[in-house]
Amino acid sequence: MTPPSAAGALSSAPSAEVALLAAKVAATCRLLNMEGILNYSGHVSARLPGQDAFLIHPFISSRASVGAGDIVALDLDLRPLPGSPAHKPPIETPIHSEIYRARPDVQAVVHTHSELAAAFTVADAKLLPMKSHAARWSSGIPVHPDPSHIETAEQGRELAATLGRHNAALLRAHGGVCVAESIEAILIDAVHFEENARAQVQALAIGPLLPLTEQELALLERRSNRAQHVDKLWRYYVGLGLSRGVLDGGEDLLAAGVPR
Ligand SMILES: [Zn+2]
Repeated sequence: MTPPSAAGALSSAPSAEVALLAAKVAATCRLLNMEGILNYSGHVSARLPGQDAFLIHPFISSRASVGAGDIVALDLDLRPLPGSPAHKPPIETPIHSEIYRARPDVQAVVHTHSELAAAFTVADAKLLPMKSHAARWSSGIPVHPDPSHIETAEQGRELAATLGRHNAALLRAHGGVCVAESIEAILIDAVHFEENARAQVQALAIGPLLPLTEQELALLERRSNRAQHVDKLWRYYVGLGLSRGVLDGGEDLLAAGVPR
C-alpha cells in the first residue's frame, strides 16, 4: 500500500474513480438502511484503491439520505485527506481503519448494530451456516468479547485481531462486522449475513438444527461464481433502490461494476 497523498486519493477535484466509489459508499448505506440492516447507526466504508486510506460517511449524516458529496476520506490515523469534506466521521471509525491496516486484502467494511446478529452473542448459541451463501464464512465467525463501542485505535486493533483472517465477526451485545473485496460485495455479504442469522432462528422454530457441514460448505465454495453473484445482486438492489426512490439516480452506480 502506498501512503495517501494530495496527488492521490481525494483532491479538490476527485478522480472519476474516487467520485464513483464515494457514490457507491453512499448508495450502499442507503440500501442497507432500506433493508433494515443499518438504521440510525452502523456504517459502511471502502478503501481507496491501492492506498492506506478509505472513504466513510459522516457521523451526522442520516443513513437514509447520505450523498456522495458527504463522504469523507481519511488515512488510517483518521486524518482527513486533502479535499475531503470537513465532516466528523463516525465515533467507531477505528473499526474500519484498523481492519484496513491489518488486512491489506480488505477493500470494504460494514459494521452493523443488527439486533439479530447481537442476539447470537448473548445467547448460549453459535451462529451457524444455514444457507448456501454462508460458505463465505466457512472459516468461522469469531465473537469479539469487548461489549463497548470501538472508539480507539487500540480497541480497533483488538477487534481486527479477533477478526483475524475471517470474513466476519460478531461483537458481544453490540452487532457485527463483515469485510469484502469490493463495495458491491460488502452490500451483498451484509444482506446474506442477516439472512443466514434469520434462517437459523426460523429453522430452530421448526426442529433441531441441521447446519451445513464442512463438506457441503466446501462444495458450495467450489461451485460458486462469487463475482457473477455479486454483480447480479448489486444490480438488483440498485434497481430496487431507484424504483423506491431510495436512490436518486444521480450517479451511474452500474458503471465500472465488477466483472460479469
Ligand atoms: Zn457499533
